[in-house]
Amino acid sequence: MVIASTNPTTGEIIQTFTALTSTEIQEKITIAHQAFQDYKFISLNQRAAWLNQAADILEADKNRLGAIATLEMGKTLKSAIAEIEKCAIVCRYYAEHSAKYLQDVDVQTDASHSFIRYEPLGIILAVMPWNFPYWQVFRFAAPALMAGNVGLLKHASNVPQCAVAIAEIIEKAGFSTGTFQTLLIESNQVEEIIRDPRVKAATLTGSEAAGQSLAAIAGHQLKKTVLELGGSDPFIVMKSANLDLAIKTAVTARMVNNGQSCIAAKRFILEEGIADEFEAKLVQAYRQLKVGDPMQPDTDLGPLATPQIRAELHQQVQDSIAQGARLLIGGLNNNKTDPDQVGNFYPPTILTDIPKTSPAYRDEMFGPVASLFRVPDLDSAINLANDTPLGLGASAWTEEQIECDRLVDELEAGSVFINTMVKSDCSLPFGGTKRSGYGRELSMLGIHEFLNIKTIWIK
Ligand code: NAP
Repeated sequence: MVIASTNPTTGEIIQTFTALTSTEIQEKITIAHQAFQDYKFISLNQRAAWLNQAADILEADKNRLGAIATLEMGKTLKSAIAEIEKCAIVCRYYAEHSAKYLQDVDVQTDASHSFIRYEPLGIILAVMPWNFPYWQVFRFAAPALMAGNVGLLKHASNVPQCAVAIAEIIEKAGFSTGTFQTLLIESNQVEEIIRDPRVKAATLTGSEAAGQSLAAIAGHQLKKTVLELGGSDPFIVMKSANLDLAIKTAVTARMVNNGQSCIAAKRFILEEGIADEFEAKLVQAYRQLKVGDPMQPDTDLGPLATPQIRAELHQQVQDSIAQGARLLIGGLNNNKTDPDQVGNFYPPTILTDIPKTSPAYRDEMFGPVASLFRVPDLDSAINLANDTPLGLGASAWTEEQIECDRLVDELEAGSVFINTMVKSDCSLPFGGTKRSGYGRELSMLGIHEFLNIKTIWIK
C-alpha cells in the first residue's frame, strides 16, 4: 500500500511512502511499550526541558516546516508558518503548567491522609486530520508527553511528510526513541492498533464517520477515547452589532485555512434590519479575495486539500441549488468538476434562501462556502443556530447585554465567542458537544483526559 504526498496546487505527486505492514506495526508498538517503562519515571522538569527544546526547533525551522504543509495540503504559507508558531506556544504552555496540573491533590476525609494522584496510562494512539497538520498533533502530543504517556501517530494519508517531520522534531528535542512515533498506515490498519492490549486509549480528530468507527472498536475493548469531530458553526449577527467589524471578521472566520477548519463560521444567521447590508458587503469582500498559489504572500485562498474534498463540496452546493438555494457569488460553472482542472481550487461562494432539507442547511461544508440565513429576532436566531446535530463552536455579535447573556446560556456548543470569531487558546478547553464529539483538549482538562486518576487513602 502506497501513501502519497500530492501537491494540491498542481496535482503533482511529490513523494510516496510504503505503508507499514502488520509486523512492522507490532514492532513499533513494542518499541513504544518499552519506551513507556522508562519514560513514566522521567521527571517533569526533564520532560518540560525537552518540550521547550521542541518549541525552539519549531520556531527555528518554521519556514521549512510551513512549506511542507503548504505543498502537501494547500494552506497559505503565511498561515502554515503561524501554525508552527502556535505549536511552539502549546509546547511551552504545557512545559510551564503541567507540574501544577499533575501535582497530588490533598482531600480532607476520615483518613489520616487522602489524596488524588495522576498517573500516565501508557501508549496513546492519535488519529489526526490534515487540515492543521502540525497543530492538531502538537495539541495532543504536548500534554500527553508531559503527563508521561507515549504516543503513536496515525496521521491523515495526504500529509505523510508533515507526519514524519513531527516525529523527527520530537526525537531531536531529546525525547528517547519510541516516546513518540509516526506510523505511516492507512485507516483500515487502525483497528489492530486499538485492539492491542498495550495501547491504552485513543484520540481522533476528524469526521463523524471516522470517530464512530474508532469509538466502536475502542468501546468494545473498553478503552477511553477523545473525539474532536466536525462543526457547522453559526455566526449570529444581531441588529445592535458593530456591523463593519462583524463583516470583516466573517470573511476571515469562513476563509480560514481555505475554508477547511472545524471551527470556521459556516452558517451566517442575520437579524432582519442588517441582513441586506451584511449580504451586500460580504459579497463585495469575497469578490476581492485573491485565489491562487498558496506559496505567494498575497494569496488569500489556496486550493482545497484533495480533489475528493473539492468534488464533495461542489456536489453539496449543486444539490443545495437544485433544492432552491440561490448563489450570490462563486460556485463552479459546470455541473460537474472539470477533470482537466489543475489544482483543487474552489472559489469563494455564498448561498442564500437555503431550504431546510438541503446540504447547506444540514451538513458541514468543508470549504469556502458561506450559507446565509435571515431571522426576525433572537429567539429565531438561537433556534436556527441549534438546529444542527453538531455543536462545536458558535460566534455571535451583539452590543446588548441581555442578548449576550441569552446567547451564552442557550447556544448548544463547546464554545461561544461573543463579538469575535471562534479560536482555540492553550489555556481554555477545546472540544464539542452533540455529534461534534466528546472530551476536551488544551488547558488543564486536556492533560487530564489520558491519566489514571488514583485515589489514595492512608489510615
Ligand atoms: P477523516 O476522513 O475522518 O480523517 C481524519 C483522520 O481519520 C485521518 O487520519 C484518517 O486517515 C482517519 N480515518 C478516516 N477514517 C477512519 C476510520 N474508519 N478509522 C480510523 N481512522 C480513520 O477527516 P477529514 O474529512 O479528512 O477531516 C475533516 C473533518 O475533521 C471535518 O469534519 C472537520 O470538521 C473535522 N475536524 C475537527 C476538528 C476538531 O477539533 N473538532 C479539527 C479539525 C478537523 P486517512 O487519511 O488515511 O483516511
